[in-house]
Amino acid sequence: MANLIDGKEISSQVNQETAREVEELRSRHGLQPGLAVVLVGEDPASQVYVKMKEKRTLELGMHSEKHVLPAETSQGELLSLIEKLNQDPRINGILVQSPAPPHIDEKEVIMKIDPAKDVDCFHPFNVGKMLIGDQDGFFPCTPWGVITLLKRSGIDPAGKHAVIIGRSNIVGKPLMALLMQKSAGANATVTVCHSRTPNIKELCLQGDIVIAAMGKPEFVKGEMIKPGAVVVDVGINRVDDPESPRGYRLIGDVDYEQAAEKASWITPVPGGVGPMTIAMLLRNTLKACRKQNQVE
Ligand code: NAP
Repeated sequence: MANLIDGKEISSQVNQETAREVEELRSRHGLQPGLAVVLVGEDPASQVYVKMKEKRTLELGMHSEKHVLPAETSQGELLSLIEKLNQDPRINGILVQSPAPPHIDEKEVIMKIDPAKDVDCFHPFNVGKMLIGDQDGFFPCTPWGVITLLKRSGIDPAGKHAVIIGRSNIVGKPLMALLMQKSAGANATVTVCHSRTPNIKELCLQGDIVIAAMGKPEFVKGEMIKPGAVVVDVGINRVDDPESPRGYRLIGDVDYEQAAEKASWITPVPGGVGPMTIAMLLRNTLKACRKQNQVE
């Protein structure tokens, strides 16, 4: 049976370190990192995510601002709010919760965020920095959460074959870039699969590390896992469950029971990659505050 990669425990360690460093910034330099989260519309899942981010930001001693705008907010109004936040010295990080309503051009919104405050690492300037291995920018939160989980579980990707399923700009592509870097905690040989890859099972079976990030409940079965492989499940899927008080439960892209029989290490869902995303977002906010104020 596989060992558990405990995202709850590891994210809690990361958060404690962040809280300590936030306190140090306050006592030494009188600074408080600030994060602004912007939500347009009333998507229920987004509302939950935004609330969680706000709660955690405050818990770690940071300044938090939530801007909830009506669904009919125009592109121009949203861009002006971002411009205001770009100029606001209390705000070091800006995040616009996705998905925005269809009339909003998300690409233009991302381009409007000052790259120095782009703590989600969606701006092409920061994506480019990450790709060339520049440690000076930001790393995208979920992929960086995966790298941190591996590192803190004592799993070194160096020389390993990592197989990623999914090539989104948020997870699969940046994870590929981070894992293949010539740097500590990386140095993997990476294969990326997607919906046009015909032989996913064959490729997965070659993976020393298999990372599922596709949004397809329990797609990765035990028969796709090489004995002793490390399995990381990024997927979060809601499935109906009349027995749950909420009427649904969350499952990953991996069939946990089956894969755990084969793997050496595995992340659960929930409690694996999920809690890491906010933890890394707040690391980025802390970094942004230090850089903007030129303190170590
Ligand atoms: P996405 O933008 O929908 O991308 C899904 C990717 O999976 C695409 O590249 C798609 O291929 C590929 N794919 C879909 N079906 C496939 C199939 N049958 N075979 C092979 N590849 C397939 O999703 P995402 O934003 O990357 O999110 C992926 C999952 O991670 C979702 O469950 C999401 O909820 C979860 N997630 C979790 C966190 C977290 O904090 N833990 C953060 C972000 C996302 P094509 O490119 O060919 O369409």
